[in-house]
Amino acid sequence: MPEKRCVTINPAKMCQPLGAIYAYIGVHGCIPLVHGSQGCATYPRYNFCRHFREPIEVGTTSLSEDAAVYGGARNLVAAIRNIKARLQPELIGILTTCLSETIGDDVRSIIKEFEQDSDGVALIAASTPSYVGTHLTGYDNAVKALVETLAQQNGQGNGELNIITGLINPGDINEIKHILCLMGVGNIILTDISQTMNTPIKFPKPHFPKGGTTKAEIVDTANSLGSIALTPVTGGAAARLLNRKFSLPAVLGPTPVGVKNTDTLVENIAWLADKKIPAELEHERGLLLDAMVDVHHYLHGKRVAIFGDPDIVTAITRFVAEAGMKPVAVCTATAGPDFAKEIKAVAQEYDCSPEVLEKSDLFALDEALKGTGAELLIGNSKGKDLAEDHHIPLVRVGFPVYDRVGYFRYPIMGYNGSIYLLDMIANAILGHKYDQDKLHQ
Ligand code: SF4
Repeated sequence: MPEKRCVTINPAKMCQPLGAIYAYIGVHGCIPLVHGSQGCATYPRYNFCRHFREPIEVGTTSLSEDAAVYGGARNLVAAIRNIKARLQPELIGILTTCLSETIGDDVRSIIKEFEQDSDGVALIAASTPSYVGTHLTGYDNAVKALVETLAQQNGQGNGELNIITGLINPGDINEIKHILCLMGVGNIILTDISQTMNTPIKFPKPHFPKGGTTKAEIVDTANSLGSIALTPVTGGAAARLLNRKFSLPAVLGPTPVGVKNTDTLVENIAWLADKKIPAELEHERGLLLDAMVDVHHYLHGKRVAIFGDPDIVTAITRFVAEAGMKPVAVCTATAGPDFAKEIKAVAQEYDCSPEVLEKSDLFALDEALKGTGAELLIGNSKGKDLAEDHHIPLVRVGFPVYDRVGYFRYPIMGYNGSIYLLDMIANAILGHKYDQDKLHQ
């Protein structure tokens, strides 16, 4: 679409540091350290607390006016020393912000000087100024920084697969692990928030939860059979780096929502790990097909709009089309290299023509909804007002979901996750009182 205005209204994205923190909190014993003003740490923490209902530890270098003039190196070194002394982490994941990047702090040089003093604590640095990119590029940069700093070949293959998850929920990671377990494939999940952001209450509270990708596992990613990035926009950079540096095969997507995309994931795992597809997975696939048949008469022809992160949006668009629905508008704030191409492929395959809003916002989606007569909206909690204004139900997926509880626990990926998503869609339609006059206009 031609750009008609120079401001974003109701953004469908968040800032880069949030994405980098999301990646770092999936690493065992890692403290994210925001090199910026206090608000740059508070805003992501607030969003994590609302979505996961868990508190998280995030450090900040707390830059203020003097740092803006003289540079933030002093604050950064003090923050690293404080975190080391108080929390004894295994890694500190440093991420920059609009302020520290504008000042021009050279974080890599600062931590290089400090390295001999680091007592074995790995210092990772990701560049994440929020005047470029979004939460997704922040995640991508942080995971790339982790493997760039730590991955090392040892001359022996580990026989495992690297699964680079992207910014997905603990429920999705558990479902991917379930598929890998059924196929008998060892894996390194990069990064694994399934137990760090979904933890049991324990007294006394440990400094770090039990789970998360360990430092040793990140080092070992260089010795794996290959890498699969489940959401290429948020894991592609690390997969490509491991391919360039260590010649590991890299498979970028598709995000495993729905029948075709999950089939592709299973086939890719079987190919990379040289395994057969087990009967249990075929059974689960059959259950998904049965669930689709069960609700087909409720879903057939329903006009649906989808917004969110590009890989998730393309995957859900394909799935709703597989289920007989009609995608009428798709919207993403982050540019995905294959976003428009993928949507076009779905449109041709399923004879529909959704309006494509790329690098866009919810204001543009609002306009699009007026013209398309959408009967259902799929996206995160930021779409709540939009759904209310258009008198249509919202099926909540992705991040953040803050006006409902527990969504992070359940998958939308894999055959089982797709069944759950399908049921949510069908129940949202069944539970909504549609204005019959408007429906038949
Ligand atoms: S100043 Fe930049 S990095 Fe900090 S919260 Fe705002 S957009 Fe994000």
